[in-house]
Amino acid sequence: MVKKSGKKRSATAGWEGRAADALRVGPGFDLGELDTSATPGFDGDDAAGEALMKRLGRRLSDLQEMLYAEGRSGGTRAVLLVLQGMDTSGKGGISRHVLGMVDPQGVTVRAFGVPTEEERRHHYLWRIRRALPQPGRIGVFDRSHYEDVLVVRVDGLVEDDPWLERYEEIIRFERETEAARITVLKCALMISPHEQLERLSERLTRPDKFWKYNPSDLDVRAKWDDYMHAYQDVFDHTSTASAPWHVIPADHKWYARLAVTQLLVDTLEDMNLTWPAADFDLDAERARLARMLEETP
Ligand code: AMP
Ligand code: MG
Repeated sequence: MVKKSGKKRSATAGWEGRAADALRVGPGFDLGELDTSATPGFDGDDAAGEALMKRLGRRLSDLQEMLYAEGRSGGTRAVLLVLQGMDTSGKGGISRHVLGMVDPQGVTVRAFGVPTEEERRHHYLWRIRRALPQPGRIGVFDRSHYEDVLVVRVDGLVEDDPWLERYEEIIRFERETEAARITVLKCALMISPHEQLERLSERLTRPDKFWKYNPSDLDVRAKWDDYMHAYQDVFDHTSTASAPWHVIPADHKWYARLAVTQLLVDTLEDMNLTWPAADFDLDAERARLARMLEETP
């Protein structure tokens, strides 16, 4: 059976509609029901995914260059990709494999770990605001301000229970960010506890992975249910119309990378980017160049 859809751009072949529609958190979203090994919205296997990924990579690269060109020509728009997920969920792989397909000049990746002493002296959004992408850039947050309603909550690192206030504060912050012409794309990579165990075991058997292992990862893992509860609350409270959460099943790395790439491409497409017009007299410059060519023996 051949599916026909005249509207389908080649960049979205394989997706049954827009990826965002399959991944966006909507009312009644239940993390407990999520199949982390599923490939929602994508009709195809890993080989089809990888083939599409190559094409999407070229499109992403073109779009990123247009965004960069716009920034260099006085434009102020930028994109911020917020990545959340448990240890080993593949956040780093997104930076390497997805953003690795574009010109590194146009991308800024910032990983947020345990706050430094200086960061601790400030409001939790201080370090986040300073890391927002410059005009024309795609910024990636590997962990983010959401850690302040996830690990901070699960580990009881602040007094009282400021979570509801923080959700509101985060929504306001993201609204301000969007008002500053930075489009926010939020992706949570979700793996099963079993998949995490496999990935952590791999980190202990492969010398090239030791550096990624942290003994505290097992302590975090022991609080899995608390984390899932905190994630559910984050999705319930901070998925807004302009900055919704996308929850991405990530047991299959190829799918998670494909999904984030497609979301990023669609986000950039929606910005209706164009190449900046010449800010010089094109005819005059062409004429000058033609004269030089004539005069060159
Ligand atoms: P990794 O991403 O593996 O380098 O680990 C970074 C660690 O920093 C994770 O265990 C996070 O939970 C932790 N982290 C990030 N942000 C915060 C925060 N605001 N407060 C406490 N811990 C944090
Ligand atoms: Mg880690």
